[in-house]
Amino acid sequence: MSAAVPTAPLVRATAERAAELKESLAEIRQRVQAARPSQSTTSQPTLVAVSKYKPASDILACYDEGQRDFGENYVQELVDKAPQLPQDIRWHFIGTFQSNKAKILASIPNLYALQTLHSTKGATALNKAIPSDRPALNVLLQVNTSGEDSKSGVSPLARDASDSEADSAELVQIAKHILTECPRLRLQGLMTIGSLSESLSKEKENEDFRRLVATRDVLEGALARAGFPKDSGKWGDEHGRLLLSMGMSGDFEAALAAGSDIVRVGTGIFGSRPKKEEVKTHTSLA
Ligand SMILES: *Cc1c(COP(=O)(O)O)cnc(C)c1O
Repeated sequence: MSAAVPTAPLVRATAERAAELKESLAEIRQRVQAARPSQSTTSQPTLVAVSKYKPASDILACYDEGQRDFGENYVQELVDKAPQLPQDIRWHFIGTFQSNKAKILASIPNLYALQTLHSTKGATALNKAIPSDRPALNVLLQVNTSGEDSKSGVSPLARDASDSEADSAELVQIAKHILTECPRLRLQGLMTIGSLSESLSKEKENEDFRRLVATRDVLEGALARAGFPKDSGKWGDEHGRLLLSMGMSGDFEAALAAGSDIVRVGTGIFGSRPKKEEVKTHTSLA
């Protein structure tokens, strides 16, 4: 469990695999640029390459094409891969977050963001685990926009919520807790996974994306009322905006059109993955 010690020498992808990854990455990048709303005044969207179940050699091949943001879902897999790979990779943890994993996650020096925070308890544990000599860890609050039991996350906020409703909502309480009690964390934004059926129905506006946008706007208002206005520099990106992480291989273009700042693309870059059950029988992925 020594995340800082480099282990096996890096195995390179075959020339054929590297060429395949180069091509799919270029295509996804091009599609991200094309899907970006033309009136967008904010920074470039971030493409997170989701590399779960994929070997370090695949990640390195994408790295050689300039990709720096990678997403992983399983703590043990991330702990195994991170030390084998260049230290300027920005790792995004996008899997289910449990407080008892805070310490091991915080031991990864180039963990850049944890996108799946959903409790004050988790925030406290993470805050305690982050060494004081490193920059504050970016955290995104996971919002369960679809309300499915199978998904983690805090309830979204409705656009028409009254001030008092919003101020007492769990999401706002967790956000305030981060701002007041967790100096080692930076509240960077909100994340949703969304329901598959919303993602598949391309004919209408995606309700999950719409709900996450509304939740962000209502949360920004609630934080301002709590004494943390947009220009306080206490949360969000360098422009003082909470970022939205939404959109995966099947719907990232719709997500960008709806205002996403961070898209998480796995199969679109790396190809299909084995099923979770198949992997679990062979390894000990946490
Ligand atoms: C696996 C995963 C992704 C990537 O999914 P694809 O459909 O392969 O692009 C994105 N976000 C989360 C949270 C994931 O678990």
